Amino acid sequence: MSALQLALFGSPVARSKSPRIHQAFAGQFGLEIDYGLIEASAEAFPGKLANFRSEGGVGCNITLPVKTLAFEQAAHPSQGATLARAANTLWWDEKGECHADNTDGPGLVADLEGSLGLDLAGCRILLLGAGGAAAGVLGALLARKPASVTIANRTLSRASELAQRHQPVGQVNAIAVTELGDYPGADLVLDATSSGHQGTHPTIPYQALASAKLVYSLNYGAAAAPLGKLARLADAQFHDGLGMLVEQAACSFEIWTGRKPATAPVLAQISMESV
Ligand code: NDP
Repeated sequence: MSALQLALFGSPVARSKSPRIHQAFAGQFGLEIDYGLIEASAEAFPGKLANFRSEGGVGCNITLPVKTLAFEQAAHPSQGATLARAANTLWWDEKGECHADNTDGPGLVADLEGSLGLDLAGCRILLLGAGGAAAGVLGALLARKPASVTIANRTLSRASELAQRHQPVGQVNAIAVTELGDYPGADLVLDATSSGHQGTHPTIPYQALASAKLVYSLNYGAAAAPLGKLARLADAQFHDGLGMLVEQAACSFEIWTGRKPATAPVLAQISMESV
C-alpha cells in the first residue's frame, strides 16, 4: 500500500513540528504516511493545493497566512471552521469534494481538560488576543459552558467583532486592554496573542495572573517564555501550548485516518526535542 499523502501549507513552514508529530502518530498504527511541508503564500495557495490533490493528496493542515483562504476554498466547512472563519484541516470525500475543520479549539480543550485536568464548565476565562488563534478556539471553549469568557485585545474593535459573532453560542464579552485593571479576575488566563514572538508578553495586571488557577499560553518554546516568567513571578501555574499543538494534530490525524492516536507519548517526545 502506498504512503498516505499529507502536508502542511503555509508560510513559513520549514521549522514546523507537524511532520514529526504525524509520523509518531502513524507509527502507533503501522501506517505509512508522507507528510510534506509546502510553502504557500495567499497567491500561490489555490494552485499548490490543486496540485497536491491531483497528485494524490488525501488531507492537509493549514497554517498562517492561509487559514481563512482554506476555509473559503472548502465546499463543506464544519461548524467550528465556520465560526472561526478559518480552517486548519482539509480533506476530500469520495466525490472529491473538499471539507474543512478547525481543530485548534478541540485541541486546546483536550489539553486543558484531558491533560491538565481543568474543568471548563463554570470557569471564568480571560482570553487575551482576538486574531486567528483566538477565533479558532473560542467556539470550542464556549461549548464547554464556562461561566464567562472575556476577550481583551490591544485593538478593541477586533475583540468586539469576535465576541459579537459568538454571542449565539455562549456568554462572551469584549473589553479594552486598558480596562483590565478593573477586571475582577479569571480562573483561566489564555494568551492567544503573538506578542511572545516579539519577545514580550501581552499587558496583564499582576493580580489577574496571581488569582488564576491556570495561565496558559497558546505559544510554545521561546515565544511562551515572557509570559511564563511573569506567571512564575505571580506564583501562578503556567503551561505553554505544546500540548495543544499535539492535540490539534491528533484531531486532524483522526479525521484523515479514522484512528485516534495516543497523544501523551508524542507530547513527551516533542517536549524532549524542544529542550
Ligand atoms: P494573528 O496575527 O491572527 O493575531 C495576533 C494577535 O496578537 C492579535 O490579537 C494582536 O492584537 C495580538 N498582538 C500582537 N502583538 C501584540 C503585542 N505586542 N501585545 C499585545 N497583543 C499583541 O495571530 P494568531 O492569532 O494566528 O496566532 C497567535 C499565536 O497563537 C501565535 O503566536 C501562534 O503561534 C499561536 N498558535 C498556537 C497554536 C497551537 O497549536 N499551540 C495554534 C494556533 C496559533 P491586535 O489585534 O491588536 O493586532
